[in-house]
Amino acid sequence: MMMRSVCLAAGFALAACGGPGRAATAESAGGEAGSGHKAVAVNTSGRSFAEYGTRLGKIPVLEYHVVGDSTRGQFIISREKFQHDLELLYERGYRPITVAQLVDKDFSDVPPGMSPVVFTFDDASPEQFSYVEQNGQLAIDPKTVIGMWVAFNQKHPDWKNRATFCVLSGAQAGHNFFGDNPKWRGQKREWRFQKIKWLADNGFEVCNHTLWHAQLNKYPDNVVQEQIARGQLAIDSAVPGYKVRTFALPLGAWPKNRPLAWRGSWTDPKSGKTTSYANETVLEVSGGPAKSPFDPAFDKTKVTRTIISGNALEQMLDHLDKSKARFVWDGK
Ligand SMILES: [Zn+2]
Repeated sequence: MMMRSVCLAAGFALAACGGPGRAATAESAGGEAGSGHKAVAVNTSGRSFAEYGTRLGKIPVLEYHVVGDSTRGQFIISREKFQHDLELLYERGYRPITVAQLVDKDFSDVPPGMSPVVFTFDDASPEQFSYVEQNGQLAIDPKTVIGMWVAFNQKHPDWKNRATFCVLSGAQAGHNFFGDNPKWRGQKREWRFQKIKWLADNGFEVCNHTLWHAQLNKYPDNVVQEQIARGQLAIDSAVPGYKVRTFALPLGAWPKNRPLAWRGSWTDPKSGKTTSYANETVLEVSGGPAKSPFDPAFDKTKVTRTIISGNALEQMLDHLDKSKARFVWDGK
């Protein structure tokens, strides 16, 4: 369990960390997904990705935080590093799916012979999703995760809008649905719900990460439930009726009463209204690639992740290939 001294409300604790690594990559012919042509799923030496595993293999679940101007520590990586990760995964035959798709065994967005990868983005920073005003119209800032993702999708239509955003709706320092004040990358408070709705409308999954990132093991049961219920309520305000299925533990800390991470309820003392939540999957902050949902040992109620900084991504992909432990979709 990671218990690092990082706290969003107070800003990030920064640790020394190397820059993005550059590992040799296998290149695929790429770009032909959806054609039903299995021959696309090979690298430049003509080897099939299926040599590296089967559908019982493991699936990388990547955990990102801030993607900004430069790499600083484990929780802030540069846009250059993020772009590198997109290209690396694309070339190595990975295509994105959401946590909900993983749990549902829904690999319809992964061409046979290729592998799924799950991107998760925590903490709803404006670096992940900002708008800019252009002639009275709102446009997605290309220098944000969403801006880069959309551009990558336009270049590679077989890389779809599939990622899971674990959001905060009331944290400080701009971590309130991607920024609630012009001092955070010029973000206006009234754009918050629009961003959450855009994600839901465009193929992404919205995941609850509590109200303001409370470290849940430090609080009594009623506060734990308030944090999770109010996070869900805020998402529902942005996208009425949205079914939140995934919940990410702030700092990876389980509540003392662990079942409350999945189910609970909270009554608003002002209105007397009770909100219940039922999270299907709880995301941890570490633990390495996830088991295949076809593996009898797969537990959909909690899924492990890997924080992506330094060479963590390259090391994980290399290890999966070398040990032939990679999930490769067989299309069946
Ligand atoms: Zn977090």
